[in-house]
Amino acid sequence: MFVGHYSVAFAAKSEKNRIPLWVLFVAVQFLDYIWATLVLLGIEKLRVIKGFTAGSMLDSYFHPYSHSLITAMAWSGVAALLYKTIWRAKASSSAAVIVGLAVFSHWILDLIAHPRDLAIYDDTWKVGFGLWNYRDPEFALEIALLAGGIIV
Ligand SMILES: [Zn+2]
Repeated sequence: MFVGHYSVAFAAKSEKNRIPLWVLFVAVQFLDYIWATLVLLGIEKLRVIKGFTAGSMLDSYFHPYSHSLITAMAWSGVAALLYKTIWRAKASSSAAVIVGLAVFSHWILDLIAHPRDLAIYDDTWKVGFGLWNYRDPEFALEIALLAGGIIV
């Protein structure tokens, strides 16, 4: 999933929670920022395979710290705490929860798009519905999500 992640940021933005849109943009891609950092550090592993899926050549075959279900939940909690700590009194607890959920939404949308490479915990029990194998439906879903998110 690429641009589709941002649909959640647009949908979560409201007058009431007063979360800056840029914070939500960071939140929905938070797991990929961690992933990119860990790949650059050589901790998580990525290889490029031509035609790996119809929609992506990136085979991220080892990413237990950024993209397992358990660590995604942990990072969501960290993000909610960070938001609450940095914004202190200005941030309501519900806003912090929304930031946490925005982070977690990344995993849910990746679950739809990724081939079976998302671990439940550590590097085992891999899941993924593999929508990336179907280029046009995947692209249509991303655009529909983005449009829907902006409308909301
Ligand atoms: Zn991701």
